[in-house]
Amino acid sequence: MKHTSRRDFIKAACAFIMAGIVSRFGLLSFAHAKDSPLPAGKVAVPATDPVAKAIGYVADIKSLDKSAKRGSKDFCNNCALYTAVDAHWGRCQMLTSGLVTAQGWCRSYSKKV
Ligand code: SF4
Repeated sequence: MKHTSRRDFIKAACAFIMAGIVSRFGLLSFAHAKDSPLPAGKVAVPATDPVAKAIGYVADIKSLDKSAKRGSKDFCNNCALYTAVDAHWGRCQMLTSGLVTAQGWCRSYSKKV
């Protein structure tokens, strides 16, 4: 018969607590935001979109140039021009050729009030 040691119990409790923290703060959704499937029948803003290029839109903040003047909490999903379609994608009033990612950003970012 297998006995659960105190160490096993503490490991399980820590894993449970960490899963709660990750879930609570949306860390998993951030990690997978740009890889999330698009809503049915929708397309993402293409890299060739001239307006997207002009305003420096990036779908994944990790690919952003380090010199960009962006606040650490500035993302499309808290921009005044963003309307969520689901947890990972939304419409931007500036970019009409497709959806933008919730965790994207551009130089026209305007904090939602
Ligand atoms: S204007 Fe706002 S919603 Fe549109 S791409 Fe820029 S940051 Fe994202």
